[in-house]
Amino acid sequence: MEDLIRQLLAELGEDPAREGLLRTPDRVARSLAFLTSGYSADIDEVLNGALFTVDYNEMVIVKDIDFYSLCEHHLLPFFGKCHVAYIPSTKVIGLSKIPRVVDVFARRLQVQERLTNQIADTIREKITPLGVAVVMEATHLCMSMRGVEKQNSFCVTSAMSGAFQESSRTRMEFLELIKLRSAVPGARESATPGFACVVED
Ligand SMILES: [Zn+2]
Repeated sequence: MEDLIRQLLAELGEDPAREGLLRTPDRVARSLAFLTSGYSADIDEVLNGALFTVDYNEMVIVKDIDFYSLCEHHLLPFFGKCHVAYIPSTKVIGLSKIPRVVDVFARRLQVQERLTNQIADTIREKITPLGVAVVMEATHLCMSMRGVEKQNSFCVTSAMSGAFQESSRTRMEFLELIKLRSAVPGARESATPGFACVVED
């Protein structure tokens, strides 16, 4: 990877041999390896020992989970907050594990819609709750840094299923609890199309 990054620097018109860039290929390689470490993460290992059987049917919410990901169209960061809620049927996930699940999928090349769905799908698969809701609010540097025409670089995506899809009261309770900065578009759909970074080139 270091050779590729040296080549890239040269392509960009830089001199990879100048002092400030000497160790850059090594740093970039290690940083990219970390930012994409989700590919080699094993979700069952992450959740190992943290699924508990309970007699509890109220909404569980973990909100304001910071996440950082890379858009797969431009390899530029998008980052923001993730809010996760579910209503247990028989099992819960240890609360500290939810941000780990978010990281496993955020540390890959992503589009925000897929990331949102993967988090929701994982929770659904692992504990079969009565409902799952995931809302992600993020700023996309591929839009804000490139100055894409008046395009809002702030995107909200949601994935809702079960009780969150069927009951507007449950959904509203969740949305009230996370107090979104902006309205959730298409809260009834499992994904909101047309909201990811712009890929016009
Ligand atoms: Zn992008």
